[in-house]
Amino acid sequence: MRNVARIYSSAAQVAKKPISFEVFPPKGDLTHEVAREMAGHLAELHPDFISVTYSAGGGGNKQATAAIASMIQDDFAVPTVAHLTCAGMDEAAYERAVSELQAFGVHNVLALRGDLPQGETDTQAVHQDGEMSARPFLYARDLTQRLVADGFCVGGAAYPEGHVTCFDDAANICHLKQKQDAGASFFITQLFFDNECFYRFREAALKAGVSAPLACGIMPFLSKAQIQRMVFMCGASLPAPIIKLLARWESDPESLRQAGIEYACNQLVDLANHGVDGLHVYTMNQPDIARAACSALRESGLV
Ligand code: FAD
Repeated sequence: MRNVARIYSSAAQVAKKPISFEVFPPKGDLTHEVAREMAGHLAELHPDFISVTYSAGGGGNKQATAAIASMIQDDFAVPTVAHLTCAGMDEAAYERAVSELQAFGVHNVLALRGDLPQGETDTQAVHQDGEMSARPFLYARDLTQRLVADGFCVGGAAYPEGHVTCFDDAANICHLKQKQDAGASFFITQLFFDNECFYRFREAALKAGVSAPLACGIMPFLSKAQIQRMVFMCGASLPAPIIKLLARWESDPESLRQAGIEYACNQLVDLANHGVDGLHVYTMNQPDIARAACSALRESGLV
């Protein structure tokens, strides 16, 4: 199955912008069946790849990530990227995760730190008996290094407005460069609503020697509650036009949803016009979002 870094490099040679989608493993007993139906709809749009998230804690379904990525590759011939997080991961858990990815034939991985389990610090893991020990993988760059050594094609997360726990722009870029130095060969950004933030970030990253492709992760806002949650979780700034749209459609949820999708489509078209390396749509498992994004980009003649 295709290596995602090569998808970006061959697209760059012909000035094409790869389009990719993110999905998460559906919850419940019918995870695989629901994912298969959704993947069928997404595959009709011919994305360059689909990435599948990994949920280490809470109600997430981490067991399903590699299986769903494998199913999308095998049944729909669409390349995939399996996300993998290392917070709370010890050596044995790493070995299990790698064996599973290999058994499922998944070659591309998005290596992430993930959110720290309660009580853990950046450097210390907490065990069931309350004992603390050094965490084997402190940051995503450490997981990246191991996965690359184990033969995977590895990507990482990038933060145009800085990670929510990183208060220094220079450190944000430095941590990105560390992931590239550890072997990350492509990056996907955190969602953002203001493209200017991305253009400034791209310039700073290039200046710091980040040469791996930076694909823009775009998520439409669908409701006021959802955008509030996202803004608090990831620290993305809300430009005035979005606040106006939220006020305008406050009592009309369907129009607000459509306005959110339209705003995201306009963002994607502008990004494509500015020659970004790739466009990654956070579909939230809703194929109509992916469909709208592809139509907007194809109508604009940019992909
Ligand atoms: P890192 O790059 O390790 O950064 C974590 C924090 O440590 C940042 O504040 C960073 O600035 C800082 N840092 C990094 N290196 C150093 C260093 N050397 N010294 C000091 N500080 C350092 N989460 C999931 O649970 N599952 C998913 O599937 C998932 N998919 C995602 C996909 C994308 C595209 C993105 C952008 C995020 C995703 N996340 C996912 C969320 C991600 O796991 C969290 O944002 C997490 O808190 C940080 O992950 P990271 O890989 O960026 O970590």
